[in-house]
Amino acid sequence: MPSKTDLLKGIRDEVWALKDSPLYQYRIENKNFPVLGEGSHDAHIMLVGEAPGKNEAKTGRPFCGAAGKILDELLAHIGIARAFVYITNIVKDRPPENRDPFPDEIALYGPFLDRQIDIIQPKVLAGLGRFSSAYLMQLFHINDTRPISSLHGEIFEATASYGTVHILPLYHPAAAIYNQSLKDTLKKDFAVLKKFL
Ligand code: URA
Repeated sequence: MPSKTDLLKGIRDEVWALKDSPLYQYRIENKNFPVLGEGSHDAHIMLVGEAPGKNEAKTGRPFCGAAGKILDELLAHIGIARAFVYITNIVKDRPPENRDPFPDEIALYGPFLDRQIDIIQPKVLAGLGRFSSAYLMQLFHINDTRPISSLHGEIFEATASYGTVHILPLYHPAAAIYNQSLKDTLKKDFAVLKKFL
C-alpha cells in the first residue's frame, strides 16, 4: 500500500505535467513552480488558500510572501507551529498578476485538492478567503450562500470519505495586511482551530 507521501508525490508529478492548464504557459515563461502544499501529512488542521502569488511561484512554497507573514502571525498567536498543519491552495499555479482564479481553473485544480484532503484526512479544513471557503462548502454539500463577511469563524460539520470533517470559512490573511481590525477578527476566528489539535 503506497504511503501518504507517495500518494502526495503522485499528485505533485501530475500537476507538474499539467500542460493542459491555462496557467501552464505562464508558469514556463516566468520560470515559476507549481505550489502543491507543505506541512504535516498527518495534520489535523488543513489550511486552504486561493492560489500562489509571486513569492510562492518563485519558491514552490505556499504562503511565503506578505500574506504568509500574516498567516505565521495568526498561527503563532494560537501557539500552533506551521509544521504541525498542512497548508495548500485550490489552484496550484500562479494566475497572472495575482488575479482571482477563474472558474475553469478552480474546476481543473480542485480535484487535486480533493485528493490531498482524502490522503491527509484532516479534522478541520479552514478556507482562507471567499474562493476556498466557497469551494470547501460546495465540496461538502453545505448549502449556505452567505458572504464570507457573515460566514467567517463559523464551524460546519460535514462528512468526508474518511469520516467527520469540519469546515471553517475564514477571511484571507492578505485582507489583513493593511487592516488591523480584520487581523483582530482573523485572530479571534483562528482560535477556533485550537480545539482540533
Ligand atoms: N495567497 C494564497 O491564497 N496562497 C498563497 O500561497 C499565497 C498567497
